[in-house]
Amino acid sequence: MEKIRVHGGFYLPDPDPPKEAHVELTTSCNLNCKFCYRQSWSERIGFMDEELFDQVLGELNDVGVQDLWFSGWGEPTIHPRFEDFARKAAEGFDLGMITNGTTLLRKADAISRYFSWVFVSVDVTDPEMYRKIRVGSSFHVVEEGIRELANRDGVELWISTVLLKSTVSKLPDLIEWAAEVGARGVLLSNLIATHPALAHEQIHDKVQPDGVSKIMERVRTLSMLHHVRVIEPFFYYKTERRCPFIEERAFAITFDGKVVPCLFTLHDYRAWIDGREVEVKQLAFGDLKEKSLREIWWSPEYVSFRAKVKIADFPSCNDCLLWDGCHIANSNEFDCWGNSPTCSFCPYYRGTVQCPRSYVARWVIGA
Ligand code: SF4
Ligand code: SF4
Ligand code: SF4
Repeated sequence: MEKIRVHGGFYLPDPDPPKEAHVELTTSCNLNCKFCYRQSWSERIGFMDEELFDQVLGELNDVGVQDLWFSGWGEPTIHPRFEDFARKAAEGFDLGMITNGTTLLRKADAISRYFSWVFVSVDVTDPEMYRKIRVGSSFHVVEEGIRELANRDGVELWISTVLLKSTVSKLPDLIEWAAEVGARGVLLSNLIATHPALAHEQIHDKVQPDGVSKIMERVRTLSMLHHVRVIEPFFYYKTERRCPFIEERAFAITFDGKVVPCLFTLHDYRAWIDGREVEVKQLAFGDLKEKSLREIWWSPEYVSFRAKVKIADFPSCNDCLLWDGCHIANSNEFDCWGNSPTCSFCPYYRGTVQCPRSYVARWVIGA
């Protein structure tokens, strides 16, 4: 196998195929959440067409992918072919999904038939607070859908929660509620602010933030008491860096066929990370309309990028003293070590932000 040069050395490419794909059925959504990535982007809204979806299934099968997630930056259940796509995908893959839960009641039959794991986004159980965050949704409607799905066999139900400064004190209530509605676990994540007005809601910081430890102690106790698994993020930057996508051989495909290493770089957008604005550029290593997934996954550019991520060959902007005024760090296009692109300020890399993934779901069911 061809060796790939990384910063003066040689790296023998990891010969293993990808095992987990996140497929974006659509960038459309029936909600307008306060912190959605789509708050700060200007890309067109689109739906994956059936021809591309069939091609994607064939290509995933060809390279040996095991798990397929309906995820991305939209609500998968509002795709007009959602049920057909789920039926086809379930024939060849273990299927997971992240949903805002608004359609669960209507679609519970199909979802329980085809999906192994469903992560429903619920950040707080106070209906008024929920309504202000998940704009366009109702806590009671989503709760009803969750209860309906929890009654069905064969599907693992999880709650996916974004923590905000204004809601974190309510987290113990959410854990008790999750146990009561039959959720297997709660996946917690810190916020990536996509609007300047939300920057102050970021909890994670360079040092352990005040007050969080006490809340998390209570959360851990409730987790043990009620047998509901809680997956915590880090709340401050530790030295270690680990990409949850690259390390688990996961990647994403946009609704229009771009192959992207992670959900952080799925599209172009602006974010307010650690108090400053940055531009995050889509990081596409190829387009399935032009090349096969096999060619893209083992292309020298993608292999070398994965190698650099694994050996953490990037500077660390999150805890750099120059962060506030450094122009090089305006986007993920460059960093001060000469990398392009770079993962130097990615919060997933630091474990402060998390999203639904196979290793989280499988951890519990022991597969
Ligand atoms: S449900 Fe998800 S995709 Fe839809 S607006 Fe909310 S965060 Fe965005
Ligand atoms: S690019 Fe380099 S100098 Fe600039 S903030 Fe990041 S680590 Fe610091
Ligand atoms: S470190 Fe971050 S930006 Fe880099 S591939 Fe992983 S998730 Fe994406």
